[in-house]
Amino acid sequence: MKKLIPFLIVTSIVITAVFCIILLNKWNIKKTTIESVRTYDGFTAKLNELYATSTDEFVLCLNGKIDNGIAVITSYHSPKEYKADENDIVFSSCSNFDFFEIFKKEKHLGTIHNHPSSVCHLGYMDCYSFGKSNDAIIGIICGEDTVHFFTPKDLINSLEINTI
Ligand SMILES: [Zn+2]
Repeated sequence: MKKLIPFLIVTSIVITAVFCIILLNKWNIKKTTIESVRTYDGFTAKLNELYATSTDEFVLCLNGKIDNGIAVITSYHSPKEYKADENDIVFSSCSNFDFFEIFKKEKHLGTIHNHPSSVCHLGYMDCYSFGKSNDAIIGIICGEDTVHFFTPKDLINSLEINTI
């Protein structure tokens, strides 16, 4: 019993520290300065294909890393969609609370969605949900080969995009 109490105290400190590291890691990604976006060959083609065949909004979760101010997109996946029409989409969270994310090289960066209306700026709901999220970037597809990425620091001017 004498040994149990110090053990429980140490355990609770360790658990708290781990949760703090996870949360700081989440905050950091949002606060990181991002100056440009790098995508991979085939990503734009996939976006064009989805854009051309969708009359409703769709959303993709973007994964990758942030490297020297560059958001490097390395993969994507589709979240579960609950409702989608030409103006709105309701979808499940891209990443669940993942303890092991701090050890993973590929992290959740943000989302990208289309605007079937061809409007290239963020809508009110886009800004609202982006602000509430821990996402580092948000992308809008508003035409063929026309993609704009924004960060929490600048919701008006889009980032430069490079493809390798
Ligand atoms: Zn939108």
